[in-house]
Amino acid sequence: MYSAPVEEIAFTLNHVAGLSGALEEGRFGDLSSDLVAAILEEAGRFASGEIAPLGEKGDREGAKLEDGEVTTPKGWPDLYRHWREGGWNGLTAPEAYGGQNLPHMLNVAALEMWNSASMAFALAPTLTMGAIEALTSHGSDALKETYLEKMVSGEWTGTMNLTEPHAGSDLGVLKTRAEPRDDGTYRIFGQKIFITWGEHDVADNIIHLVLARLPDAPAGTRGISLFLVPKFLVNEDGALGERNDVLCHSIEHKLGIHGSPTCTMIFGDGRFGEEWGAVGYLVGEENKGLACMFTMMNNARLAVGIQGVAIAEAATQKAIAFAKERTQGKAPGWSGDGKNGAMSPIIRHPDVAQMLLTMKALTQGARAICYACAYATDMSHHHEGEKAQHWAERAALLTPIAKSFSTDIGVDVASLGIQVHGGMGFIEETGAARYLRDARIAPIYEGTNGIQAIDLVTRKLPLSGGDQVKGLLAELKQVADEVSARNDTGFGETGDRLRAAIAALEAATAWLLLAQAEGRTADALAGATPYQRLFGLVLTGVYLAKGALVAVDNSEGSGRVSLCRFMAENLLAETSALKDRVIAGSASLAAARSLLD
Ligand SMILES: Cc1cc2nc3c(=O)[nH]c(=O)nc-3n(C[C@H](O)[C@H](O)[C@H](O)COP(=O)(O)OP(=O)(O)OC[C@H]3O[C@@H](n4cnc5c(N)ncnc54)[C@H](O)[C@@H]3O)c2cc1C
Repeated sequence: MYSAPVEEIAFTLNHVAGLSGALEEGRFGDLSSDLVAAILEEAGRFASGEIAPLGEKGDREGAKLEDGEVTTPKGWPDLYRHWREGGWNGLTAPEAYGGQNLPHMLNVAALEMWNSASMAFALAPTLTMGAIEALTSHGSDALKETYLEKMVSGEWTGTMNLTEPHAGSDLGVLKTRAEPRDDGTYRIFGQKIFITWGEHDVADNIIHLVLARLPDAPAGTRGISLFLVPKFLVNEDGALGERNDVLCHSIEHKLGIHGSPTCTMIFGDGRFGEEWGAVGYLVGEENKGLACMFTMMNNARLAVGIQGVAIAEAATQKAIAFAKERTQGKAPGWSGDGKNGAMSPIIRHPDVAQMLLTMKALTQGARAICYACAYATDMSHHHEGEKAQHWAERAALLTPIAKSFSTDIGVDVASLGIQVHGGMGFIEETGAARYLRDARIAPIYEGTNGIQAIDLVTRKLPLSGGDQVKGLLAELKQVADEVSARNDTGFGETGDRLRAAIAALEAATAWLLLAQAEGRTADALAGATPYQRLFGLVLTGVYLAKGALVAVDNSEGSGRVSLCRFMAENLLAETSALKDRVIAGSASLAAARSLLD
């Protein structure tokens, strides 16, 4: 069973991402490191002790739909109530609406634990938090007054209704329509698909944020508006009123996240309410809906990135525990432990150890990337002027990498976890397969990883004329130089390997910036996905080294040094090949394309 790695999470937050320095500078007011530790400890206890046991059961049972009503797995409504009564839903929300206004970093760390325990369960608050952020930034005072407090407390949940059957990655073609009424409200008509927690039984009301098009709206993304559509209308005194004309038509049968209802939502089929059409309230300005969604995109994407870390962590824990117990064959140098005859635990076999250390290194690296991204967001809020701008750009640059690298390694690590289990990994009862099934959606939703790569290359690399990415690369080099300067044999060739990997990233970055400056967009896009992985691997290597340096300074033993050396001398070898794919891959892709005609 999953056990929250609170110490590792705290170490990464404090010493790799930068939380301890920010606390010392007083960036978060009177928030102390003791309070941070207590929050993490309590979140870990709740995740391991209360969510994880019901997470496994929830996967087997799944969500169900009957007569338009969706029920979640047994025990989940109570579990959700306990969770929200603990105040977890409003960690980062504004105090004015009952939130705790804590750093984003802490929430991301807590999200990791909820998701490790049950990604399907954690999706409900993840979506609510996104809706709270959108409403806080763009809602009118009246909407905020009516909805935010109950959403922050978690009494009401939120959803994001973007996708339609023909409009997924390209939302510009969505058709859901919004008709203005004389009283200032709108009536919404249309169908949305794949809506996470679109209908359920864990909260009294569901607040849908819906993208729709006004009758005279311009075509494409400039003609999309954002609306708030509650499941139950809210009376002036705040009590729940009539049922709104919005209905869950069906729920999907999916590969994973079985406890999370994925709903087809119908707005305006006349079944509820006297007047036809779902009552909606405009959020932000007409035709600016997509821009409203973009302001919360960084956080939402990071929240999906952390799902990859979460699954990778849980899969690694399970695989290590299994590999210590399972005996098979005789590992080189194994002379028996008196218990299992000549057979050794499989963890003693070099190939199994290689798999487990790969899982560990990638998990810790992706965690550090996600936390560093959250730190950048926090710093953008806690600085002014140019510094705030710098940190906002840093968060923007790291976001697509945090989302895509972490969710890709979530799948890779979960798959390796099955491999470590051998045949038993393919059998549902060990639970290893569930991690792979759950992990597989994360590279797809909240902008596919292919779309993230395009964003990274075309929008993020050019930030500040390329200076933002160059600044980050310079910081990475300093860590590599510091490792070499230590002359510590425990690091092996880490310093050199890191420098070579950073050089590969630098060369690929320069090539992509040049290709775009010369208008060779197709060439640049052909290398976008390998570039994204290259960036993630380099950051992983450097962040593990950064942590290892701190551990050496604090005389914390050799574990971090060994893991960072393993990463540098094994996994970073891939970076040179990835650079070649970025730079030389596009010509061969163009040549081979006709094979697909
Ligand atoms: C379980 C689940 C939960 C979801 N939850 C929600 C939710 O709560 N709310 C919501 O609104 N949606 C939700 N979605 C929808 C999800 O966000 C979309 O599935 C996703 O954005 C991809 O869209 P699509 O499925 O239409 O794929 P497509 O857009 O058709 O993409 C198919 C493939 O083509 C590639 N592709 C598409 N366009 C481009 C391009 N311009 N350049 C390069 N490659 C491209 C993609 O990367 C992908 O590999 C959910 C989906 C699932 C399965």
